[in-house]
Amino acid sequence: MLSLSSYLKVMTDTYRHKGLRRKLAEVLAKKGIKDNAVLTAITEIPRHLFIPDNALHKYAYEDKPFPIGSGQTISQPYTVAFQTELLELKPRQKVLEIGTGSGFQTAVLLEMGVKVFSIERQKALYERTKQLLPNLNYKTNCKLFYGDGYKGLPTYAPFYKIIVTAGAPYIPEDLLKQLKIGGTLVIPVDEGDSQRMKKIVKLSETNFQTEDLTLFRFVPLLKEKGRD
Ligand code: SAH
Repeated sequence: MLSLSSYLKVMTDTYRHKGLRRKLAEVLAKKGIKDNAVLTAITEIPRHLFIPDNALHKYAYEDKPFPIGSGQTISQPYTVAFQTELLELKPRQKVLEIGTGSGFQTAVLLEMGVKVFSIERQKALYERTKQLLPNLNYKTNCKLFYGDGYKGLPTYAPFYKIIVTAGAPYIPEDLLKQLKIGGTLVIPVDEGDSQRMKKIVKLSETNFQTEDLTLFRFVPLLKEKGRD
């Protein structure tokens, strides 16, 4: 695999890639994604460049997850689109993302015009994505943090929307606290081998409305920072 600095120099996006992602957006629409802004983001973002292993680039527009190093994966495009649609984003809203990973979901959020605060617990992924995003022209409205997503970002709270992109064993109390009243948390919560997607709306400091959606499969939301 290329070093990141060499990779950043040689990475290219072509008309062929653009065609493939237009097809991917069509696939997602057929699977039930309706939000046009989400489908447009999928059509715009060069997903292949978020996958560190060049050998996998030719598969990048299949609706599948792929390894990104540190034992983690870039989420399946359908999952990214599904979670983003659930957030019902409005431009300029403050959004907290737990699990930056490759930065692909982060880029989708940025394309929706919101302000993103994103936390990653694997140092290597945090470092890589911090360099990759500005190279893909995502230079503003985005702050990346190396830390523990269970704790959220109290200094920057409250957030209008919070999205968790790893399977959580339970709903972290700190994330509920950091949600604005009227705001939404989208989080996959463990249920045996897979996770139930939940959409939680904060009605008041103590009152939440939860909607249980379909099952997904995520890598786990882990305690403590990674040691790499
Ligand atoms: N949205 C990312 C998803 C990556 S997978 C993408 O599509 O590329 C989930 C990510 O959550 C992994 O990068 C993993 O390292 C990270 N993660 C796991 N536990 C975490 C925690 N407690 N805090 C922050 N990030 C965490």
